[in-house]
Amino acid sequence: MGQIKTWCPRCDQGWVVEVYIEPLEQIAYFCDECEALWFDGNNITQASFVDYSTFMEERGFSNVYDKLRFSNPDSAHITVDLNAEQLRLLIGALRETLEALDPWEFAARMGFTRQEVVSMMKRLRESQRTIE
Ligand SMILES: [Zn+2]
Repeated sequence: MGQIKTWCPRCDQGWVVEVYIEPLEQIAYFCDECEALWFDGNNITQASFVDYSTFMEERGFSNVYDKLRFSNPDSAHITVDLNAEQLRLLIGALRETLEALDPWEFAARMGFTRQEVVSMMKRLRESQRTIE
């Protein structure tokens, strides 16, 4: 998906940005003006949103805003062009890493937390779905 930035179709007052919902280990798209949330970055419409705090509270979470991680807008981004085969290779390599490394050594060996790797893998899988 990369950096999608969509003007909020629900409130018409803010940007929909990519977020990571930590307890769900899930990437989603969130309007910080009206708190509308979408899970499918390809279907950000007025009809398809859920209300973030309601959604989380229904699942038993409190302090729901602590559960959101925004990608750092100041960090540099690059775009990498991969074909389907290369994308499959990258996803496979990350999956192997997740399976092979023990939790206690994961961050030390990778320099990233397990969740960060899971999160990246989910993004890659979303991209993969768009070309399958
Ligand atoms: Zn909005």
